[in-house]
Amino acid sequence: MNTSTLIAPPALVRRAEQQDTKAIQALDSAHYLHPFTDHGDLATRGARVITRADNIYIWDSEGAKILDAMSGLWCVNAGYGRKELADAGYQQTMTLPFYNSFFQTTNVPAVQLATKLAQLAPEVRGRKFEHVFFSSSGSESNDTNVRMVRRYWDLLGQPQRKVIISRQNAYHGSTMAGASLGGMSGMHAQGDLPIPDIVHIGQPHFFENAQPGESQADFGLRAARWLEEKILSIGADKVAAFIAEPVQGAGGVIIPPATYWPEIQRIVDKHGILLISDEVICAFGRLGHWFAYEKFGIRPDLVTFAKGVTSGYIPLGGVMVGDRVAKVLIEKGGEFNHGYTYSGHPVACAVALANLELMEREKLVERVRDDTGPYLAERFEELRGHPLVGAAETCGFVAGLVLVKNKAKRQVFDESLAVGMRCRAHCFRNGLIMRAVGDRMIIAPPLVMTREQIDEMMDLIQRCLDATLEELRAEGLLA
Ligand SMILES: *Cc1c(COP(=O)(O)O)cnc(C)c1O
Repeated sequence: MNTSTLIAPPALVRRAEQQDTKAIQALDSAHYLHPFTDHGDLATRGARVITRADNIYIWDSEGAKILDAMSGLWCVNAGYGRKELADAGYQQTMTLPFYNSFFQTTNVPAVQLATKLAQLAPEVRGRKFEHVFFSSSGSESNDTNVRMVRRYWDLLGQPQRKVIISRQNAYHGSTMAGASLGGMSGMHAQGDLPIPDIVHIGQPHFFENAQPGESQADFGLRAARWLEEKILSIGADKVAAFIAEPVQGAGGVIIPPATYWPEIQRIVDKHGILLISDEVICAFGRLGHWFAYEKFGIRPDLVTFAKGVTSGYIPLGGVMVGDRVAKVLIEKGGEFNHGYTYSGHPVACAVALANLELMEREKLVERVRDDTGPYLAERFEELRGHPLVGAAETCGFVAGLVLVKNKAKRQVFDESLAVGMRCRAHCFRNGLIMRAVGDRMIIAPPLVMTREQIDEMMDLIQRCLDATLEELRAEGLLA
């Protein structure tokens, strides 16, 4: 096909809205292998082409304006179109676009960002986070965690401590280690995962896993004790670490009962195993705190971050290394034979710094904690009155609701009806990005969202739920 209109005049590329959507879609399906995409499906329907964004809105190549209640992919915390971030990237690119941090060299933005992160990460019961290891993504950071945890136990003379315990339906990335740590059965089914010495326990998913009549508090304790059962069955002296998201994101915004995390902490302390808090989604204001471990009062040894650290403007990830692990690596370790070309990339670090400064200046974390987060919770509670909604809950600026067939009987829909995807289609048509995980509908809006914009989003959600209800009723699918 004729590609000249797409690649020749730069002015046209910049103004993609004026391009022929069909032409882009054809080239897209001909050349671009997308992540997590069925390409047969993509070829027949064509991808939606997103061309620009501002604040909490995105626009597609047909000019449709869409409220992005997912912050891109859980990452655009500061909202789109922030000039400060673009300027920081430009300035650093012109000053020093790249240099590595291998072999006793460093660069100023990486040092400044590491210092800033150490200042932002609160000390918790004697545990300090003075050190950062940088990568370019959440997946890479969790690969780093696996290597760091094993190195730690090797250096302490306990090389038999290899097993890392994770949870079913967790998401920890898509590399070999990331996907293995994750508990997504669809991912494990492709390519012989998990890799050895990674095992999984159940998730603290009250709606799905609680027994009839069981309280949230009792279920939280029971779910946490699955960890202890697993440790004892493996042998505590063989377990290296437990990894978990404070609130499961991609798994469907699963918020654990309040009793869960304190009991997990008791168990990892008792058996001396390391705790990895994967905060790729939960950190940087998402739950109303700079880091989520603070909210839950837990004391992790390693904290994975990525996404919101740059508000998604440029790839950057890393691991906050608590003093328990850092001390051993530094004092006993010699060289740690691990690192990435782009560890501490100066442009990525400069953009991250500008992003964190912007978030501080606009008090985005405090806003979510004290004002807009509680307001979102209030507005979500109203959804519980909707005939399709079996549960609706929020935590800071993540929220989820469950679509059910019969509320009184807590009866769910047959999976084959793909009710979540039907609802998602109504959202798309009505100018709202809301994600479906099975029949759970989830959001994670940009932290700059105002109360008025929350109202606007809630009107859209209401409208899409009504449209879904109407469709199901018309097909005779309601109980
Ligand atoms: C997105 C995510 C990852 C993976 O991050 P990538 O940057 O996509 O590699 C890891 N952990 C959690 C909790 C995530 O949400």
